[in-house]
Amino acid sequence: MVARTVLVINSGSSSIKYQLLDPESGEALASGVVERIGERDGIITHADSGGETEQRAAIADHKAGLGLAFDMFTRDGGTLDELGIAAVGHRVVHGGTIFTKPTIITDDVVAEVDKLSSLAPLHNPPNLLGIEVARALLPDVPHVAVFDTSFFTTLPAAASTYAIDRDIAEQHGIQRYGFHGTSHDYVSHQAAEHLGRPYDAVNQIVLHLGNGASVSAIRDGQAIDTSMGLTPLEGLVMGTRSGDIDPGALLHLLRVAGLSIDELDELLNRGSGLKGLSGVNDFRALSDLIARGDADARLAYDVYIHRLRKYIGAYLLEMGGADVITFTAGVGENASNVRADALAGLERLGIILDEEANEARAKEPRIISSTESAVTVLVVPTNEELAIARAAWKLASG
Ligand code: AMP
Repeated sequence: MVARTVLVINSGSSSIKYQLLDPESGEALASGVVERIGERDGIITHADSGGETEQRAAIADHKAGLGLAFDMFTRDGGTLDELGIAAVGHRVVHGGTIFTKPTIITDDVVAEVDKLSSLAPLHNPPNLLGIEVARALLPDVPHVAVFDTSFFTTLPAAASTYAIDRDIAEQHGIQRYGFHGTSHDYVSHQAAEHLGRPYDAVNQIVLHLGNGASVSAIRDGQAIDTSMGLTPLEGLVMGTRSGDIDPGALLHLLRVAGLSIDELDELLNRGSGLKGLSGVNDFRALSDLIARGDADARLAYDVYIHRLRKYIGAYLLEMGGADVITFTAGVGENASNVRADALAGLERLGIILDEEANEARAKEPRIISSTESAVTVLVVPTNEELAIARAAWKLASG
């Protein structure tokens, strides 16, 4: 039995991901995902020291889903108490401008998060469902909300403001909030630590390249810009999301092409990006297509890299140069060709990769720039669950 553990819950509209961690060692003791909530063919996959289990069942709602997850923890006759859960960390997507840091969940906090649902209608309501069910199941431990947006509440107005009518923007909360903040926060701290430099004395660019993707510029320990905006749709080319697009194109699709609002939403969020350009959203599948000479896949890759370089260039200029550029998440951690192409030909800007180091594979933070490079380039594996667990643990024990 582990004395003190933290349960991390990421509750989405039809799935709940969870992980039980030792916040001090960082070890994941168990993890799982409940999928297809609300459907008859629900599925729960759970892994712990006893192995991996998969169970299929109708999962009526989030309460039933989390209940099934808890059953998994006790399937060998143990009790929940024996898990030593000292806090529960909840991923909450939108904290608006109010939640600037992880926060102990009270009824007032729930009400505030609920108010922010209009800004994140697909995310905050299921996050709240997870919170409600977990608070009922574990009423005696502190529950902590960790927000995707908090890290970016330091953005200066010039970076967070859209150039539209100010009254309309204010009335509807239209501004740039940024997302993936937990990852940018965790990875940038890991990067500074790996280099043995004080966090607030380095200028960093963090490239979170996963299925969703975003870039951040962090000057002297504060985020000053990021590529996602009001929603996680802005910015880089992603697996299925368009990233930046002329808003006029959307008007055109509504007015001239006759798309409904739901069809446009589907197109931009799930039918665009690499998927829209090449038919596949997974980077490995894209690479296979490129190797077979597929021209659409090649173009998708080129558009992806082009957009990425634009942001790197912009952020280098905004900060007057960077000390560290860090790649993270599925693509950033694994695709050496993306890293090489993102930073190719930047010797004059003091950015030089070490080819061999870039090709090497490891699960640890590592330097991939050459010793002549003025800018240090790193690969740092992200771990949002651990970041949430540590934030929850800090609040619960402090
Ligand atoms: P994430 O959202 O962080 O889980 O990242 C998912 C993305 O990472 C998918 O596009 C995967 O294809 C990509 N990915 C994972 N492993 C690799 C790999 N070994 N090489 C290239 N891409 C990878």
